Amino acid sequence: MDRLVILGGGESGVGAALLGQKKRYDVFLSDSGALKPQHKAELDAAGISYEEGGHTEANILNANLIIKSPGIPEKAPIIKALRAKGTKIISEIEFGGWYTKARKICITGSNGKTTTTLLTHHLLSSSGVRAELAGNVGTSLARQIAAGNEPDWYVIELSSFQLDGMYDFKADIAILNNITPDHLDRYEYKFENYIRSKFRILQNQTKADAFICNVDDPTTAEWLPKVTIGATRYDVSTHHEANAFAADGKITVKAKGSLTFDANILPIKGLHNIYNSMQACAAAQLAGVADADILKALPTFKNAAHRLEFVRTFEGVDYVNDSKATNVDSAWYALECQQKPVVWIAGGTDKGNDYSTLNDLVRAKVHALVCLGVDNAKLIKSYTGIIPVIEEARSMDECVAKCRALAKKGDVVLLSPCCASFDLFNSYIHRGNLFKESVNNLK
Ligand code: ADP
Repeated sequence: MDRLVILGGGESGVGAALLGQKKRYDVFLSDSGALKPQHKAELDAAGISYEEGGHTEANILNANLIIKSPGIPEKAPIIKALRAKGTKIISEIEFGGWYTKARKICITGSNGKTTTTLLTHHLLSSSGVRAELAGNVGTSLARQIAAGNEPDWYVIELSSFQLDGMYDFKADIAILNNITPDHLDRYEYKFENYIRSKFRILQNQTKADAFICNVDDPTTAEWLPKVTIGATRYDVSTHHEANAFAADGKITVKAKGSLTFDANILPIKGLHNIYNSMQACAAAQLAGVADADILKALPTFKNAAHRLEFVRTFEGVDYVNDSKATNVDSAWYALECQQKPVVWIAGGTDKGNDYSTLNDLVRAKVHALVCLGVDNAKLIKSYTGIIPVIEEARSMDECVAKCRALAKKGDVVLLSPCCASFDLFNSYIHRGNLFKESVNNLK
């Protein structure tokens, strides 16, 4: 019996443990932190052994196969020890892929993964296709396979960290939204390493498979000639005609079929969501969804919270929660689609940001900045002389109170932080929820 050790006991780790046990591995799960009570209960019920609060090398280095949580970096001592031994280390999606025949639409990119994944799934399932979400959204792929779930399609959101642990896996339809600098701390601060990781989405694809990409994205466009693309390529653009293109408020998608519609039927706004929608529609067409069904489903899509989420209008000021904007590019798109003067909330844990790409938009749209972070020095330095009013806040209530005082009737207060949330909050969800609570409490 092969020994399978799973490092990290979150949703994907526990799913992998359940699938591993079903496939008759000798399974052990190890987490350096605390496991959630419901996960412990599941492992206990399945009779799977585990540890928490640290990794016991003796129980791990004897593994034949390791499944590593995407959150664990290469520099973790246990990973270094396993690499030195030459133990095979894969991700949960790779493992799940070994045991399913369902076809797969896989979405990666620096921004827009969740939106594109949810929309693609919505287009498929609204038209009666049996489709399930997996990857970074919803129930893990491995757990669903362990439960015997075999839909027509899995729609899978893939981070670069998941892709790094994938070797034999193949996407029937791959979507690459865009590539902008992010997570460089995990890629030796080399953008090229991160780019190569994103292009792993192409691996094992053949002509019968599809690769949908945004050719307006400068990094993608620069790298397309440098990578080997086995799949049939479908381009998305707002600059020129492509398999999906948008111009003058109209979107045309002709990856298979041919579909033209008004961009304003989309419930998700902004240029970035035009790209996301074109990619999702192209994938739906290629998966066999009829154009009429796509058209019917588009207006009923509801995106996940914390992505340009309208909270409320108070004293004539709109409040918008874009807490998921954890890098500069996502904040660029948030600012780009604002049509009212902006009081902007930014700040948090800086991931090596270069704010200069935002300068033109900020000059044109932002009249006040409230920096919401422990260390705001870089943000203040970047915007002194560009934004007339800059203030700091160290709690959400203080921040919202300052925004209220700075905003005039007809303004928008936009939380689009450019940064991770971990200095003051547990996660972007925690940050966004506190923002909504604080805004809803304004009297
Ligand atoms: P991801 O899963 O890649 O983080 P999300 O759909 O959760 O992407 O969106 C994350 C943030 O990026 C949000 O602030 C959202 O408004 C913004 N965003 C969404 N799609 C795009 C895109 N195609 N390009 C740039 N920013 C985007």
